[in-house]
Amino acid sequence: MRRVRLSPIGRIAAGLVAMTSMLVLVLDLVLGVFPAEGEVARQVRLRIVNALAMQLAAIMQRPQEQALLLRTMHDVVAVEPDLLSVGLRREDGSLLAATRRHAQDWKLPADGRSNLTHVMVDLQRNGVRWGRIEARFRPLASSTLPGWLAQRWVQFSLLLAGLGFVLYHLYLRRVLQHLDPSATIPERVKSAFDTLTEAVMIVDDRGRILMANQAFGALHPDAVRDHLGRPASGLPWLAAAMPHDAAQHAWARVMDSREAVTGEVLNIAQPDGGPPRKLVLNASPVQDGGGRVRGALVTFDDVTELDRMNVQLRTALTELEASRQEIEAKNRELTELATKDPMTGCFNRRAFFDAFDPIFARARAGGALCAIMTDIDHFKSFNDKYGHAVGDLVIKAVARTLGATLRPQDVLARYGGEEFCILLPELDLEQAWAVADRLRHQIETQAGQSIEGHGALRITSSFGVASIVQGAETPHQLLEQADGALYVAKRNGRNRAQKWNAGETALAGH
Ligand code: GH3
Ligand code: MG
Ligand code: MG
Repeated sequence: MRRVRLSPIGRIAAGLVAMTSMLVLVLDLVLGVFPAEGEVARQVRLRIVNALAMQLAAIMQRPQEQALLLRTMHDVVAVEPDLLSVGLRREDGSLLAATRRHAQDWKLPADGRSNLTHVMVDLQRNGVRWGRIEARFRPLASSTLPGWLAQRWVQFSLLLAGLGFVLYHLYLRRVLQHLDPSATIPERVKSAFDTLTEAVMIVDDRGRILMANQAFGALHPDAVRDHLGRPASGLPWLAAAMPHDAAQHAWARVMDSREAVTGEVLNIAQPDGGPPRKLVLNASPVQDGGGRVRGALVTFDDVTELDRMNVQLRTALTELEASRQEIEAKNRELTELATKDPMTGCFNRRAFFDAFDPIFARARAGGALCAIMTDIDHFKSFNDKYGHAVGDLVIKAVARTLGATLRPQDVLARYGGEEFCILLPELDLEQAWAVADRLRHQIETQAGQSIEGHGALRITSSFGVASIVQGAETPHQLLEQADGALYVAKRNGRNRAQKWNAGETALAGH
């Protein structure tokens, strides 16, 4: 059989009940708090029989009143429920009158004196006893309880013991929570926890707080109160940041699964309406020597400040990225300004030569490359006739036409005034000449149309084309050859494309 073990609180409650019961019994002995029930009944019964005796004595004064005597006796038995029978017995022992069954049922008490069930009152005439009234009463203990249990003080004591135990137990459990030796945290352990900056809480297997360190009290204005013995899930400020179902609270889950919970984020709302505190919760089960889960250790790491700094850092990074993009855009703008001719958007001379060197080197290593030099015919006359501004428009129109149909790998640059240079990688002399002639044709037919307000200006250009295979050893030599061909084109009547030819250029004295 399993031995029932009382908890320390149960033992204290039982002791208090025993002491209280004893106190009550001593009070009863000294002051008679509980009257002896039998004694009271005996007095009452004696008074009933005395009254009857007086009545019967009065009747007996008159002779021949036997019938009235008997009727009075019957009436009294009828109205007194506890009274079973009544008899009038002479001194010689014979019954003068009796109600039903009295003669059979009456038994003179052994000591010859009245008791609770058999009451006798003497009758006297002229100072001489001549007989007595006998009254037989119902026994008192009519209940089904055993005799000792029927006693008032026994019932009271039992009630006191039962009710007292429950009340004492409830009260002690509430008040003496931290006196339960199986559930206390030694003071020195507690002060060790107080040195931690991290908030720590230890709960028992029912989720009641056994220990909370000082840092815990700093989590919320309401957290500074004494929470020992209170269920952790019952702290409103903490519960508000947790799932509605208390079984889902970290400590409950930890004790249920015996597995630690880490990195759970809680946002604790602050009563002053300030920003919530961000906590990172870690919890692990606490087990006793037998491997039984006795509670949980819960820590709260306040990362509000860290989080705020993270947000600041993120903002700073975003701003940095924005200014980096701005700088990049500015750089692109600067590069544009440094490499492009502002009027036409073509490469300027410097950018042109920067691009030319690697292209020339690649072509020398094995590949085709041609250069075209082109110059607007009789350009001075536009300036002279329409003014410098229209002259600019003509230069822009020609640049637009030249650039419109070139390939991505081709390079177009404004070489000077109204002179342009084009590099055509991967093309041989014939192909490059075809490109030059196509451009010539496009300028002749389209460039003039695009300038508004001056009718159809007739614009033409001359082109000189040279290929690297014709012997140029430097970019400059290639350009000189193309320029030589351009000179020949001008000389031969303009608006034409001319391939470089060593003999012709020499003839021209170039
Ligand atoms: P040719 O057919 O022989 O080339 O005759 P041309 O009149 O074009 O002669 P040339 O090439 O010598 O003339 C170039 C003129 O272009 C000289 C200069 O006044 C003018 N010029 C140079 N740069 C600009 C410019 O940016 N804008 C304008 N409007 N005129 C310019
Ligand atoms: Mg010129
Ligand atoms: Mg010219």
